[in-house]
Amino acid sequence: MPEVLFKVDLTKPMTEQEVPGHNRWHPDIPAVVSVNPGAVFRIECKDWTDGQIHDNDSPDDIRDVDLSVVHVLSGPIHVNGAAPGDILVVDILDIGALPNSEWGFTGIFAKENGGGFLTDHYPKAAKAIWDFQGIYTSSRHIPGVRFAGITHPGLIGCAPSTELLAKWNKRESELVATNPERVPPLANLPNPKNAILGKLQAAEFDRVAKEGARTVPPREHGGNCDIKNLSRGSRIYFPVYVEGAKLSMGDIHFSQGDGEISFCGAIEMAGYIDLHVDVIKGGVDKYGMVNPIFKPGPVEPRYSEYLVFEGISVDEFTGQQYYMDAHVAYRRACLNAIEYLKKFGFTGEQAYLLLSCAPVEGRISGIVDIPNVCCTLAIPTEIFDKNILPT
Ligand code: ZN
Repeated sequence: MPEVLFKVDLTKPMTEQEVPGHNRWHPDIPAVVSVNPGAVFRIECKDWTDGQIHDNDSPDDIRDVDLSVVHVLSGPIHVNGAAPGDILVVDILDIGALPNSEWGFTGIFAKENGGGFLTDHYPKAAKAIWDFQGIYTSSRHIPGVRFAGITHPGLIGCAPSTELLAKWNKRESELVATNPERVPPLANLPNPKNAILGKLQAAEFDRVAKEGARTVPPREHGGNCDIKNLSRGSRIYFPVYVEGAKLSMGDIHFSQGDGEISFCGAIEMAGYIDLHVDVIKGGVDKYGMVNPIFKPGPVEPRYSEYLVFEGISVDEFTGQQYYMDAHVAYRRACLNAIEYLKKFGFTGEQAYLLLSCAPVEGRISGIVDIPNVCCTLAIPTEIFDKNILPT
């Protein structure tokens, strides 16, 4: 087993860990450990909510979740020699659940506390607990399905520079200002409440807590991309913005469907990630890199038969025609799949949770045929214990 460079005790909140992680992005959050290029090591992570969700049958913890706490991350890791303009090469050598914590959760957040892709249709909190059996999972809350996970970190990336952080905060504030009362909000702006900033000195705390970007959106550095294919064996190329790169990660998903549509939509878990890191000097300019690039690994569930649902950019409430809107089209594909699954004994909430976390494939199938985008959602039929094809 590789050396564990960041440990978590699941009985304690992140603030009480021997070495605390962080839940905001800021270049001044100090690194907790340093490694050389070529190093192989293990990082342990708490689940993204810092243990707020429990293995029981009540969705009240999902309804009442305090989202100022998310995402609790492990790191930052200082990679010796990495400098702004370099590429940090990160291999995900292995990833899995922690011993004695072989379970995860999928939630639908309430509309007034987080929401999700289909929040206008499913505004109430719901939860499914998943039990793991090796690579497989099943849920007492969604009977009739069992599948192999595609395990990955929902969130991984390097710290932003001061300039990049300022750019994020400016553009996201401008967006929120266009409709500041919206529920859920258009973006989550910096919020000092419950900020966790690792080993940052007290004198610096208030300033960094006020400036630190929330971890919710993916950005130029990667971050919360929620890409299910960053699984075992993936190699990710990250732009480096600060000395030492300051790599952090968390939000481990046992499994997730494309889109992670219910927002707490993967099978969220605590776990470990084994990593190998290396540096490509001057790689950002050399390869014209803006956002990370990655090469998926060779180990993924092998499903070969799918039922595919189509959606187009026409609003389901008003019938309004949108022009080439992939957001609307993917929503319609998801809703069509949910309505179909309801004919097979699932509730709408169960189907929504399932599409969020099972290894479903989402695609932009056509984005040129005016005025409709066609998005598709492909569900592996082998995950069900009965035939779900039309007969
Ligand atoms: Zn997650």
